[in-house]
Amino acid sequence: MIPHRGPEFSIFYRELIERLKRLHRTESEVLLWPGSGSAGWEIAAVNLLEPGDVVVACVTGDFGDRFAQVVSTFGADVRRVDLEWGQAITPGMLDDALTANPGVNAVLLTHNETSTGVTNPLIELTRVAHDHGALVLVDAVSSAGGIPVEFDAWDVDYLFSGSQKALMCPPGVAIVAAGPRAWDRAKQTATPRFFWDMNRNLEMTKKGWTPTTPPVSLLYALDAATLMIEEEGIEAVFNRHQRLGELTRSGLRQLGLQLLADEAYASNTVTAFFPPEGVDARMVIDRMQREYGITLAGGQAHLANSLIRIGHMGWVDDEDIESCLTALNDVLETA
Ligand code: PLP
Repeated sequence: MIPHRGPEFSIFYRELIERLKRLHRTESEVLLWPGSGSAGWEIAAVNLLEPGDVVVACVTGDFGDRFAQVVSTFGADVRRVDLEWGQAITPGMLDDALTANPGVNAVLLTHNETSTGVTNPLIELTRVAHDHGALVLVDAVSSAGGIPVEFDAWDVDYLFSGSQKALMCPPGVAIVAAGPRAWDRAKQTATPRFFWDMNRNLEMTKKGWTPTTPPVSLLYALDAATLMIEEEGIEAVFNRHQRLGELTRSGLRQLGLQLLADEAYASNTVTAFFPPEGVDARMVIDRMQREYGITLAGGQAHLANSLIRIGHMGWVDDEDIESCLTALNDVLETA
């Protein structure tokens, strides 16, 4: 490792932050912390909210539920909009919720709900939230780097992700983009914080430093990943994810399988489906791993034992999906 208080690190860090800004398509600040994606919920809660703030939480799955729980833990007055799993929140639904709850400080959105394979319509939802004067706080853990995010053009206020999903790295770096409204708010809130303080982090980032010892090796990985994305071209990366999403969904349908997500909002980074009637999801996942070395995920919460998820984000190509679908076909034929 290079020393994180030496000149070499400072040059490296500034370049990495600039590349992450380009990736998020923002001129605003991008900040990094040692941490997993969940840090992004808490960073929002302690910097952008105060106890008693009224928040509308759009809950389209397990991760939306956790976002609501985290801000509630820190004292926000959370008004939930709960959707059936597999459905997206529409601008009309959010508009109704904000009309029914005047004076909302912030809207919590999960851009891509990893537990269901649904992508919520971020551009339109952001517009609706701003029409009601609310900040837009976005969990982009499984969308950043795989599904288009135009932070500035879409006027998003706060958006976070983690290094381990479409950004193709080992877990351990939390990535936060914050726009002008969020910075105004972060300067005013009196919620106690230290490690997750955005203001402290920003002060150091501007000088090319991190507020605490950074996970240097993971930052090297993030640097390599962002370089790979720039070399492929961000539009090409998004197009590849779209192609992989379509390939996965059409392949699963050809196998006669039922998908969880509403097709209009189906995610291009993760697809959730049900095994055929009478076939155990856990058995399929187990055989895919043991016999083909392919790791699939199960469902979460009430769908823990009945759902199967395929991740197709990051360093994935058509061949990976085709071999996954072939193996799945073999497993199901002999189930
Ligand atoms: N939000 C979403 C949409 C996720 O998919 C995840 C993890 O899978 C998280 C938040 C939590 O991230 P982590 O497990 O890295 O803390």
